[in-house]
Formats: sequence, C-alpha cells, structure tokens
Amino acid sequence: MMYITIDGPAGSGKSSVAQRLAKELGFEHLDTGALYRSAALLWLRYGKDDFFNMLNNAKFELVNGTLRMNGKALGDEIRTPEIGKVVSKVAEMPKVREIITQKTRELADEKNIVVEGRDIGTVVLPNACVKIFLVASVEERAKRRYAQYQLKGINIRFEDVVKEIESRDRIDSSREVAPLKPAEDALMFNTDSLTLNEVVKKLKEIVLEKLKKC
Ligand code: C5P
Repeated sequence: MMYITIDGPAGSGKSSVAQRLAKELGFEHLDTGALYRSAALLWLRYGKDDFFNMLNNAKFELVNGTLRMNGKALGDEIRTPEIGKVVSKVAEMPKVREIITQKTRELADEKNIVVEGRDIGTVVLPNACVKIFLVASVEERAKRRYAQYQLKGINIRFEDVVKEIESRDRIDSSREVAPLKPAEDALMFNTDSLTLNEVVKKLKEIVLEKLKKC
C-alpha cells in the first residue's frame, strides 16, 4: 500500500491538487483539514463539556471519496468563515490532535491514498512513499480562498480573508504539537502563478518517478 502526503498552509492549493492527483493515479483521497473542521463544528455545537466525548466517539468513513461523520456527508457546513475562525484553535489542542491522528491512520490503513494536511509527512504518516509540501504567497492564497467563499455566496471582505489566512498560518506554524512544517524528505513545490492543471501535471510526473522506487 502506498501513501502520498501533501502538506502546506491554508489556501496553498492542497485540496484541489490532492483530489486531482489521487483521481489521476487511481488513489483514494483524504482531506484531514475536513477532520479538524468537523472537530471545530462539534466544538461550536456542543461546547467544551461534551466535546472530547463527541469527537472520540465520532465515526468517520470514506465513502466513494466523500468523508462522512456519523453517517452524514461533510459539506459546506464545515467550510464557513465561523469554522475558519476557530478551527486552528481547536486543532492546537494536543488531545484533539491525538484523536484525529489516530482516526486518520485508521482511514488511510491498507489503502493507496493521497492524504493532505499540515503534519501528515512529519507526524501522521512519516513512512509515506512520497511527501510533497506546497507553498504560495499569502496574497495568492487569500485570493483563492476569497474566490471559494464567493462561489458559495458567502459575503466576506478580502482583508478579512487575508487576516484569517495570516492568523491560521501563525497558529499552525507555532503550536507545540505537530506544527506546520515540511518533512526533511519532502519535495517543496511553489504553486504561485501556476494553474491547477500545471501543478497537477508537474507533480504527477514527479510522483510517478518516486513511486517506482517505493
Ligand atoms: O486544510 P484546511 O485549511 O481545511 O484545514 C483547516 C485547519 O485544520 C488548519 O488551519 C489547521 O489548523 C488544521 N489542520 C491541522 N492539521 C492537519 C490538517 C488541518 O492542524 N493535518
């Protein structure tokens, strides 16, 4: 079974790239940001008293490429600015990381899979065959996130998207447990001014070469 990890900061293009790459390689795809966003949803819904129990008992499944929590597909409700504001704070808690890391490993087990996140190459799947770390400027990343919000009809100011990205970068990179950073053996790839097609094409060539040696 082969693991490909894609890590990088918010808006670096991880999800689109990971999804496309997985499809083209015939691999499954797991977005661990969605797991942390689901944790943030539980936090906002149930408050801190019931939170850890709810998270621990939550059943995550990958069904036809879609992540489900307790039998329900996770959609737009985890991609709101409200979740965006609290998710990094929730993800900073060591106990949350322990639970989600365990659930991620179970979901990835025995599969050919592309797993994306912040700490996948460093902590969650350190023995992965191929590790990629995507980077892009704050400006470019904020533009992409802003466009995604607009597509969903979410009304938000561009400056506030920049603030959300900067704040998440700061929290994600400076936390004590599993901070956002490239694994020593990760390939660094800058997506600034490249289209999704260009990034996927280039990465696919690189990954196919690397997979031969796994
Ligand atoms: O990838 P996405 O931007 O949806 O992730 C939302 C948040 O979840 C990140 O800002 C980060 O705080 C957290 N996260 C994490 N570790 C991961 C994936 C996401 O801490 N492996």
